[in-house]
Amino acid sequence: MVDLKGQYNKIKTEIDHAVLDCIQSTAFINGPDVQKFATALQDYLKVKKVIPCANGTDALQIAMMALELEPGDEIIVPSFTYIATAEVIGLLGLVPVMVDVDPITFNLRKEDIEAAITSKTKAIVPVHLFGQSAPMEAIMQIADARQLYVIEDTAQAIGATYTFKDGRKQRVGTIGHIGCTSFFPSKNLGCYGDGGAIFTNDEALGEKLKVIANHGQIKKYVHKYIGVNSRLDTIQAAILNVKLKYLDEYAAARLKAADYYDQELAGLPGITTPVRVADSTHVFHQYTLKVESNRDALKAFLEANSIPAMIYYPVPLNEQEAFRGIGKVIGDLTVTQSLCKTVLSLPIHTELTTEEQDYIINKIKEFLKK
Ligand SMILES: *Cc1c(COP(=O)(O)O)cnc(C)c1O
Repeated sequence: MVDLKGQYNKIKTEIDHAVLDCIQSTAFINGPDVQKFATALQDYLKVKKVIPCANGTDALQIAMMALELEPGDEIIVPSFTYIATAEVIGLLGLVPVMVDVDPITFNLRKEDIEAAITSKTKAIVPVHLFGQSAPMEAIMQIADARQLYVIEDTAQAIGATYTFKDGRKQRVGTIGHIGCTSFFPSKNLGCYGDGGAIFTNDEALGEKLKVIANHGQIKKYVHKYIGVNSRLDTIQAAILNVKLKYLDEYAAARLKAADYYDQELAGLPGITTPVRVADSTHVFHQYTLKVESNRDALKAFLEANSIPAMIYYPVPLNEQEAFRGIGKVIGDLTVTQSLCKTVLSLPIHTELTTEEQDYIINKIKEFLKK
């Protein structure tokens, strides 16, 4: 699905230098590259605070820990997402409230959120699924009216830009109260191991998030909160300092690949290509088709022809055993149920060539003719 080796080879000299410098400095924990990366990402995102941490799941957990929520408080999440989004909610004794998603964008819808709000609702977690923003203007309006927190799960959409009705543009992850992201190797901005970050425009909240990520310590051996130990390794920060410079280029390469798939797969019977919304750029973390029938047979056919194809996500959150007795489900989640049976993600990455895409496209056409 990704070609991390090909991507590395193009920036090998820079990466190797950065990593070796870090090893030679022996500043493995909280070395200068970590702050340098936080500052560079702040500038890129135009956000006041970036707090690097160990992974995207920790970012979400730390975000929720900072909000002083109480057991039983409810957090609205899409039912069609990766487990991490809701797992931390369960872990903290909070209630993940799973709502359905839009059949076209796969993201949260205003109506579903409104229908799920109770007196216990404290936050909404929009996930910018597959690289495109959730409808943030509507979500922020609901949140403002109901005094809810918004924690953006930006693990799949770093670099995407959302445009408000008045023309104002903001990077996703910087619109809600807190944004969270992951630098897992296959994410759009991936390091060479685990990594994550939390963003906020609220300075006081930023300070608190930073403290919680570091054992709740406000000064040496003085601990104000129960925190965690969640750090971004200096080596990973050094790698990210190199890769951040290429993020826009990487997004452009993914977009070009997506344009080509769109063009070549348009109008094929039973296949729906990803729909792009007007108010967000799409950074194509995934290129996800809806396949009306025989999705699993198509996947198997592609795999038999050495083409990786993945189902994100085969099982909705509400059907995960882990959430039994913990989560709350709103409505019958018909869209989510249907998406789990029809979605299929094709390879998309920064090194994908037109020849490789032609091969994939032709195999899809061959399958449909059978
Ligand atoms: C990858 C991902 C995460 C978790 O990130 P990790 O760094 O693997 O912990 C959370 N949410 C979504 C939507 C993701 O895709």
